[in-house]
Amino acid sequence: MKSYVKSKKLADVCYDIRGPVLRQAQMMEEEGHRILKLNIGNPAPWGFEAPEEIIQDVIRQLPDSQSQGYSDSKGLFSARKAVMHETQRLGIPNVEMEDIYLGNGVSELIQMATSALLNNGDEVLIPAPDYPLWTASVSLAGGTPVHYLCDEEDEWQPDIADIRSKITPNTRAIVVINPNNPTGAVYSEAILKELVAVAREFNLVLFADEIYDKILYDEAQHIPLARLATGVLCITFNGLSKTYRLAGFRSGWMVITGDKYRAEDYIEGINILTSMRLCANVPAQQAIQTALGGYQSIHELIRPGGRLREQRDIAWEMLNEIPGVSCVKPKGALYMFPRLDPEMYPIEDDEQLILDLLREEKILVVQGTAFNWPNTDHLRIVTLPRADDLRMAIERLGNFLARRR
Ligand code: PLP
Repeated sequence: MKSYVKSKKLADVCYDIRGPVLRQAQMMEEEGHRILKLNIGNPAPWGFEAPEEIIQDVIRQLPDSQSQGYSDSKGLFSARKAVMHETQRLGIPNVEMEDIYLGNGVSELIQMATSALLNNGDEVLIPAPDYPLWTASVSLAGGTPVHYLCDEEDEWQPDIADIRSKITPNTRAIVVINPNNPTGAVYSEAILKELVAVAREFNLVLFADEIYDKILYDEAQHIPLARLATGVLCITFNGLSKTYRLAGFRSGWMVITGDKYRAEDYIEGINILTSMRLCANVPAQQAIQTALGGYQSIHELIRPGGRLREQRDIAWEMLNEIPGVSCVKPKGALYMFPRLDPEMYPIEDDEQLILDLLREEKILVVQGTAFNWPNTDHLRIVTLPRADDLRMAIERLGNFLARRR
């Protein structure tokens, strides 16, 4: 009998942020429960509006989008030019128009960049914890994800010795997520230089996921990896989903810099994949020029007294007040990755733990192992909900954990 079985290519592919626990939460909502969802980095549902000038410009340009039809596979010239100016502003050397690709979100570009590079068994160094799309995309492309540790004791900076110890003749690339999801770490210049040195020594591609580059707290400075990566092939990813609160538009870009002259063959592979999907959504491409060139309203949200900054402070203080919970203070992005002391909370199965939390307290967070963290002692919460909702959610988490001590 014919059966409908999924492809073996998906055997190692998982993206648990939208996994079984989310489905349980949706079922509970259908039953009429109000669930506080601290699980997905989606700003708009929490009342974060996109800059009005972007929306107005997209509306104004809609007729033109229609007459345009498909755009060039790399994207609209005007939007790519805006990305080029942005790279110049950031001090990234030697970027030409042909190095810039627009996509349906960073997610699509990550999948194309990994698929075009990897053969079966090629290894990619990915941070642990990670944003799990990287691990999933490498696996789907036939590659082998190899996780390097980020050090919680050192504000979650990448452990360079661990990276070096995991390099083999099959290693092709290193993924650097900075500012980091899920830890909120912003990497120091010294660490970034060491990453570049490793990539240079072993001839590896650097994948720099910098989608949170403008979401920074306190005095944190973001240094674009590509600015330092001279002589190394570096692909930088960014987009409109977070800084500009336009996740639903699905609009992002990637920029190839550094040693691109020796990468002609790989770049041809990327060009094949971008052509196969014809082009990114054109109205969403048209948002890029205004977003990058217009008023940067994100600064109002992250400065002292700004909503994102205030919410980060509340969440961080309240989490650290729960006995046995400790959390490194995030310097960027939209997340916290607190640790639950394993002596106080011996957890065998962290997915079960957050399922229990969901059922008992009606809050939804994500288990640490979903971010390829090797131990069952962390969870991720999103700091997007308004202060009152965040307070309520963390209070409920505290009540739940009190029953487990
Ligand atoms: N990279 C990181 C580190 C993310 O956290 C996310 C979304 O949460 C993405 C990429 C996906 O971005 P996009 O909405 O542009 O596909």
